[in-house]
Amino acid sequence: MDKPAWLIKNGIRLDGRTPGDVRPMKMIAGFLDKADGSCYIECGKTKVVVGVHGPREVHPKHEMQDTKALVRCTYNMESFSVDSERRRPGLDRRSTEISKVSAQALEAAILVERFPKTAIDIFMEVIQADASTRVTALTAASVALADAGIPMKDMVTAVSFGKLYGENGEEVVAVDMDKPEDNFGLADCAVAYMPNIDQFTLMQMDGNLKIDEMRAGMAMAKKACREIYEMQKAAIKRRYE
Ligand code: ADP
Repeated sequence: MDKPAWLIKNGIRLDGRTPGDVRPMKMIAGFLDKADGSCYIECGKTKVVVGVHGPREVHPKHEMQDTKALVRCTYNMESFSVDSERRRPGLDRRSTEISKVSAQALEAAILVERFPKTAIDIFMEVIQADASTRVTALTAASVALADAGIPMKDMVTAVSFGKLYGENGEEVVAVDMDKPEDNFGLADCAVAYMPNIDQFTLMQMDGNLKIDEMRAGMAMAKKACREIYEMQKAAIKRRYE
């Protein structure tokens, strides 16, 4: 991918969005027949399928927790999700890290004390990657958990934000990074947020942001999460229509 001359010009990004716009999103709750809960999601060209099983018996047994459910996540980027020669199949350090932080971000919302000695397994399959895959997968995972009937304090909604350079050397904070923005932007953050109870459950950052840029980004991310939250609720409602 060639480096573009700029990522934002007169307040408009390369794909026509303003800084506060998320890409067009589509969510289908109950996308899979065999999983207890599932969701298919598109965020621009990023496409993810999430399947949930549980609460169910814990294997291996020694991982069982006496007072709460064990929440496990497996994030996987399919080898066909990116340009052919790039991604090698199987779990690597990046997917292990994303699986771990995703489980923590979702466990914060799930009423795990209600299901001691059980496991809730969340499988996230990225079938097409155009950046922001971990946050897109988290948004879908919440819908899949709700679809599985798993009680939660609130739904986790997730989005990325970052800093883009402009035509005149300006630096602009924007939400929902796509691939060119992720590659050539000045910073990139992933956040997960529970809009109803106003709590963040994940915050990761690549690059550098000044404190006021971070504040602006968090405020934009909260606003974007509230919009995504409405889409999550609508997807769950459609399932029962
Ligand atoms: P996220 O997808 O959550 O933004 P990263 O910042 O690690 O996570 O990755 C950004 C994007 O870079 C991914 O969405 C994907 O498009 C691309 N990418 C990541 N890892 C690989 C890889 N091993 N091969 C090809 N592309 C990759």
